[in-house]
Amino acid sequence: MMESGKNFADIILPVPIPRMFTYKIPKNLASEIQIGARVIVQFGRKKILTGIIGKVHNKPPQAYDAKPILEVLDDQPSVNPLQIRFWVWMASYYCCHIGEVMHAALPSGLRLSSESKVQANPNFDRENAAYPMDEREDKILDALENQAELSYEDCEKILGVKTIHPILKSLVAKEAVLIFEKVQEKYSPKIETRVRIKAEIASDKKALEAVFEGLAGKAKQESILLKYLRDVPVFKNIKLNEKGVDKATLLEEGDSESSLKTLIKNGVFESFKVVVNRIEEMEPEKEPAKLSDSQEQAVAEIHQHFEEKQCVLLHGITGSGKTEIYIRLIQEILESGSQVLMLLPEIALTTQIVSRLQQVFGSKMGVYHSKYSDNERVEVWNGVLSGRFSFVVGVRSSIFLPFDSLGLIIVDEEHESSFKQFDPAPRFQARDSAIMLAYFHQAKTLLGSATPSFESYFNALHEKYGYVQLHQRYGEAQLPQYNLANLSADRKKNLLKLDSTRLMREKIQDALSKNEQVLIFQNRRGYSPYIQCEDCGWTGQCVQCDVSLTYHQFAEEMRCHYCGYKEKVPSSCPACGSTQLSTMGMGTERIEESLSMLFPEARMGRMDLDTTRNKYGYQRLLEEFGAGQIDILVGTQMITKGLDFGRVTVVGIWDGDRILNFPDFRAGERAYQQITQVAGRAGRRATQGEVIIQTRNPENDIFEKVIKGDYYEFFRQEMMERKKFYYPPYVKLVKITTRHSDFKTTEKAANALHREMAQIPVKKIVLGPEKALIGRIKNQYQFESMIKLDRSGTTQTSFKERLAEILEELQSRPEFRSVRWIVDVDPS
Ligand code: ADP
Ligand code: ZN
Ligand code: ZN
Repeated sequence: MMESGKNFADIILPVPIPRMFTYKIPKNLASEIQIGARVIVQFGRKKILTGIIGKVHNKPPQAYDAKPILEVLDDQPSVNPLQIRFWVWMASYYCCHIGEVMHAALPSGLRLSSESKVQANPNFDRENAAYPMDEREDKILDALENQAELSYEDCEKILGVKTIHPILKSLVAKEAVLIFEKVQEKYSPKIETRVRIKAEIASDKKALEAVFEGLAGKAKQESILLKYLRDVPVFKNIKLNEKGVDKATLLEEGDSESSLKTLIKNGVFESFKVVVNRIEEMEPEKEPAKLSDSQEQAVAEIHQHFEEKQCVLLHGITGSGKTEIYIRLIQEILESGSQVLMLLPEIALTTQIVSRLQQVFGSKMGVYHSKYSDNERVEVWNGVLSGRFSFVVGVRSSIFLPFDSLGLIIVDEEHESSFKQFDPAPRFQARDSAIMLAYFHQAKTLLGSATPSFESYFNALHEKYGYVQLHQRYGEAQLPQYNLANLSADRKKNLLKLDSTRLMREKIQDALSKNEQVLIFQNRRGYSPYIQCEDCGWTGQCVQCDVSLTYHQFAEEMRCHYCGYKEKVPSSCPACGSTQLSTMGMGTERIEESLSMLFPEARMGRMDLDTTRNKYGYQRLLEEFGAGQIDILVGTQMITKGLDFGRVTVVGIWDGDRILNFPDFRAGERAYQQITQVAGRAGRRATQGEVIIQTRNPENDIFEKVIKGDYYEFFRQEMMERKKFYYPPYVKLVKITTRHSDFKTTEKAANALHREMAQIPVKKIVLGPEKALIGRIKNQYQFESMIKLDRSGTTQTSFKERLAEILEELQSRPEFRSVRWIVDVDPS
């Protein structure tokens, strides 16, 4: 789509200013101008930036003189018009800058810019040039004769001046040089240096022991070896050893390269290079399953709703076989020639559902993971562009891929809060954004969950979305049996010594004796172990944040979960000198330890942030669990997401009250979802599962509703509360955080913002500003305001537009120049 005949272009630039910038289209570039193409422009007095053409028109800017576009980089636009429309929408809906959306959307291999270089134009005849050359221009051309290309920095050095772009501009205008970016290099296949243990050691326990003996006293080398073995358990998995690990990964936490070199020199490790072809060719290996009657019925209903509605909510209980329904729909859309995107919560991406999809779709399917490197992202990006991937399953950021003809977007586990991006901007909700994206493509959206978000459920009940239910588990499987273990009679702190835990112990014992598996869930949120002095009550505090440090037993450390600060556990109390320091709270580590004392024969596993930090941690634990090498798996939220293991018959929810009490209007909704989801892992085949919930409030209404599976009734009650107290979905929320290193300035800025917002003439309630729950993070104080807006679209647009102006004005006041304002629309 050439855009000739227009004089101006609005360019999206990666700068924190809430608009596009208008540039002049020079005559000689007019034929190359296309929406979505990357261009080079001068920004301000100093900077040369790469931007993207967002719009072309004939309206000169009023506030400034438009500068010319210096160079067009793309023959083919890097982003398509639908994407730009989507970015514009996202920036305005989530109150951020379009440059921030661009930053999030483009893999950095496709972004900017400082690597822009110049090259002599081969067609340029210097001797017979029509224009006289300036002396400085000559110097650069001379230099280019010896060197094929120069960076801006090189040019500056040659000339001894700081700003060379007027000179370059003139050279470009005279067609003497070309500006280009080294994009090609970034696309080329990635070569990785990997290391592995030599085969003869990896396959021989004795040899490995000998190596360890040889390393006695050489702590650094030993630690590298141990870390490798943690990632790649050689005796269990020789195949993984063949693949080795990426050298950079192995050395990540401050190890010295020389220790590894020594290990290689001494023949323990070997290093090798591989061309990382991250996307393997794969033929589909399995036919899709034959759908059951109720699955067929659901598919038919979905089709029916799609005739009138853009969005359908598939509410199917855990184990009802939603995946096979997705597969059917995906196939249909692909056959019709359109693209499909499927969003999954982060952690679910490494699990069974992806391998199930891969079996059916082979290498037509791209996977877009959050742990991917930039190269891998570019590869998926290009795969979508070239048409190689007509179907992508990915995390929330995959909504930015360059689809041009989506027919369907599926959001699985749509209730998951991880679809919301907290930081940095754009703070988008991927489910909601996906619905908008689908709308731009005239595509359909299918939301799937066993416990839909109240927003989606609300829309379904109000017939904004189509609504399809699956009431039964696939095959003979039944929903599990619930047991409430009443803790209220007990006073003792140690949950394992309580009489009331007898039920949990018996059920576990029972399962183990039948060679079945057990999951123990511990809600982590707001609940972590810490160290306290028994004499004076001292607890370790972070030096940069207003929070207690969390105790990490394995490393004997106390860590801040907000900023990463850590220190060793002191041997005596820093406040009073007492040596009576004890561990409070019971994290997953302690539960694992206690259970392994109770069931010494059982093989234990633990899945939490600590054990899954490295790239393969999560996958490995799941593989071991799936292969039956673990009997009891203790874990946090991670074990609740979509796992489908046939031998799990018992699920224990540890100290279940922790799930109930959060100071948040969504507390009830989340508790219901979490309990149902984790319980849903039990008894997914022929044997009915058992769920044990420990609680001091067995009469709590949530338990009753969960056990009955009465989502509708629970929803109805909660909705009455939300309506009464003005909470979503009856209103829209916007949260604004004011941050600064000085307390007084923070408070003053937050108050100033409050006064301005109160003036905005729309239907709203402005709450705050209040010191945030955590008053200080990384030495930045924070205040929060919460705005409740009427749901109407016009209210929201007028409020947001005015808010942007207010923030720009406040930011320009000298006293608030270094204040940061963070706007979070639809916070969760
Ligand atoms: P959900 O995502 O709804 O919790 P799954 O899609 O994981 O449920 O399905 C639960 C189990 O039932 C899985 O093991 C799946 O392979 C099996 N299953 C579902 N539908 C079929 C089918 N039509 N044919 C064979 N197996 C099926
Ligand atoms: Zn003390
Ligand atoms: Zn901290």
